Amino acid sequence: MYILMMGPPGAGKGTQAEKLVAEFPIPHISTGDMFRAAVKNGTALGKEAKKYMDAGGLVPDAVTIGIVKERLSETDCAKGFILDGFPRTEEQAVALDGILKGLNIKLTAAVNIDVPDSELISRVTGRRICKSCGATYHVKFNPPKKAGICDKCGGELFQRDDDKEATVKKRLEAYHSQTAPLITYYKKAGVYKEVDGTQQIDKVFADVVAVVKG
Ligand code: ADP
Ligand code: AMP
Repeated sequence: MYILMMGPPGAGKGTQAEKLVAEFPIPHISTGDMFRAAVKNGTALGKEAKKYMDAGGLVPDAVTIGIVKERLSETDCAKGFILDGFPRTEEQAVALDGILKGLNIKLTAAVNIDVPDSELISRVTGRRICKSCGATYHVKFNPPKKAGICDKCGGELFQRDDDKEATVKKRLEAYHSQTAPLITYYKKAGVYKEVDGTQQIDKVFADVVAVVKG
């Protein structure tokens, strides 16, 4: 299973990817998570990426393509992967085609989680993430049993710096101008699938599983 999870910020890509990897033993590769890890570790990549992330913009293509190329070449990706948050520009999509060709891999599905902008702001501003295991919650829509504490590992929950309202609006603008055109790109490639992301998390998951198996 070689799957792309597509959709605007807050659509539920990470939430659905977490559920998929619990069921199918393939790696979840999130470029956002990779950049956040680099920022946390204070690497040169992290310092470069942070400038763009804080502003709600996209990290330059050359940098992003480089880290994805390296990651997809690792042996654990040979039997499948879930790419979450990549590609986000046409240049990244074209580069991904080249990387996959070199690895002799054909995409199974590019799954777009469709959610209107009107719902995305409250989803993103209410998002909370576990500091220890990275699990995603929402203060209203998917709350932990005990406020501020991860159900899975007991870790502390935090809000991402770029999940504040002003930055979210910029991220949505970047999505519409640079990423949404990829819907046409993957329709043309014949691998495009769409699910209604406004449903309950488990219902969205059932639809995601159905389209990737279909
Ligand atoms: P993305 O990875 O696409 O940015 P996330 O998976 O992190 O999005 O989800 C964004 C926020 O919305 C999180 O707080 C998550 O718990 C919540 N969420 C995800 N899916 C749904 C859903 N189907 N209904 C309501 N809230 C959801
Ligand atoms: P995400 O965790 O997917 O919401 O990504 C958080 C931030 O990381 C984005 O707002 C971008 O600044 C950066 N980022 C993640 N993936 C990409 C990508 N494919 N291309 C460019 N920037 C990215």
